[in-house]
Amino acid sequence: MIWPAVDAIKQQISLLDYLQTQNWQPARRISRGRLMGLCPLHLDHKPSFLVDPLKNLFYCYGCGHGGDLIRFVELYHQVSFGEAMALLRRSRCGSLLSDVARFYQIQLHRHPEAAAYLEQRGIHQPQVIEEFAMGYAPGRCLRHWLITLGYSLGELQQAGLVNAAGLDSFSHRIVFPLEANLYGRAIGNAAPHRFLPGGKGGLYGWERVNHYSEVILVEGLFDLVVLWQAGFRNATCALGSHLNAHQLRQLGDGVPRTLYLAFDSDENGSGQQAAQRLSRRLRQQGITALRVQLPDGHDPNSFFVGGGDGQQFQQLLERALP
Ligand SMILES: [Zn+2]
Repeated sequence: MIWPAVDAIKQQISLLDYLQTQNWQPARRISRGRLMGLCPLHLDHKPSFLVDPLKNLFYCYGCGHGGDLIRFVELYHQVSFGEAMALLRRSRCGSLLSDVARFYQIQLHRHPEAAAYLEQRGIHQPQVIEEFAMGYAPGRCLRHWLITLGYSLGELQQAGLVNAAGLDSFSHRIVFPLEANLYGRAIGNAAPHRFLPGGKGGLYGWERVNHYSEVILVEGLFDLVVLWQAGFRNATCALGSHLNAHQLRQLGDGVPRTLYLAFDSDENGSGQQAAQRLSRRLRQQGITALRVQLPDGHDPNSFFVGGGDGQQFQQLLERALP
């Protein structure tokens, strides 16, 4: 288990990047892209430290030390292998949430129950899974994986990734990385929606859509994903029907645009009521907001899963009400 973790770290952080964060500068370039500079490991007066950025290896002709990134960190900070791994993990180059997301992404393809769930939600294009960096929490191995990467159990518990018993708190969920959080959708009978502590953040992918003159706002990520799959790139998601202050500020950025609220048309009417309240509120801020009327009992996801296509959805947009 340790070797994949070492490889993962070396893939994420190149030796040269790490050296540069420690203010190392090459004095000259030699053949095959290799660099020479002063050795950070001994008192060096003429450049004797060779770095091969392609192989991610170093060698010093002065003190005779050489090796890979982790060996360098061991020598430079005079720490053990495990401590070097932990130091690297906490360096600015990596982050806990992206490690977790990567772990889940790998698991998605290994667990047929995850693929079956995605199929059931109408997601069948591999590039969509990639685009949204979707993953799956199988409920095993997460803690072990992260500890081999150098995180402590305390850190993982503090982040809410594992519970008091040390188990993955996103267990049996499809997981989407958000800007500074994770969203998990249960594929079984557990509580359907889960976030890490700390709030859902802004509108999903807002900086990718805010330049469109028409933007579609949906409640859930599975709504967003099927719209994306059907070719609608101008959609964003509020992760619920209630917008937080940050999300409202994003919509009120003063850029003229038409906002289509494609909220759930559920039986109790809560999605449509939320859309109505929101459109009223946005109108007061001078934002044009139209409510998309989905067939009864549908949300955008079930609309597409039930056979609706992009053209039909486009017609719903055209018939949207103020
Ligand atoms: Zn040296």
